[in-house]
Amino acid sequence: MLNIVLFGPPGAGKGTQAEKLINKYNIVHLSTGDIFRANIKGETELGTLAKSYMDGGNLVPDEVTIKMLEAEVDKNPNAEGFIFDGFPRTTPQAESLEEFLTGKGTTISVMLALDVAEQELIKRLLLRGKDSGRADDANEEVIANRISVYNEQTAVVADFYSQRNKFQKVDGVGSVDEIFDRLCATIDEYKISL
Ligand code: ADP
Repeated sequence: MLNIVLFGPPGAGKGTQAEKLINKYNIVHLSTGDIFRANIKGETELGTLAKSYMDGGNLVPDEVTIKMLEAEVDKNPNAEGFIFDGFPRTTPQAESLEEFLTGKGTTISVMLALDVAEQELIKRLLLRGKDSGRADDANEEVIANRISVYNEQTAVVADFYSQRNKFQKVDGVGSVDEIFDRLCATIDEYKISL
């Protein structure tokens, strides 16, 4: 299986690149943010719970997020692999994912970390806020909180994969196609080394 963790701060371009990667590699895209938003829209119990955290730019508790993610993986028993987008966002999430995948006889192949400077992130998120309809993109204070949550709780997840020799940084500035080509080159290089 080809299991990719697509990593990077809010606004790094994970969702955009994930959509292109799943077509090329025939793997399943699991975006925890998208799944939470679908639950909010559907007014499910999970959606109601997630909404208060998301609106403030805070993380949904690990226990809830991990359970949801595992259920989504289990919905795709025939997948050739996954792109995890927005997950894991904490070290306990990374540990749970590793244990869960190991139990299925597989593992994370590589973490691809999109590298984008903070000023550029804020610019992109505010621009997206104008037409995405996402409450957490429209408010500069919430954006600032998401970036500090990333720096304080999420950035360390890179160390988890780096310690396992699975961490690859990719320049996230340029055109969508340029960045896509960089990601593909890194994946293809990785696949040869398998
Ligand atoms: P972005 O990366 O642009 O901030 P996402 O769509 O990935 O946006 O996530 C939006 C929100 O969903 C996060 O701010 C957080 O509240 C919640 N969320 C998404 N993934 C996770 C996760 N793995 N753990 C906890 N909360 C999450």
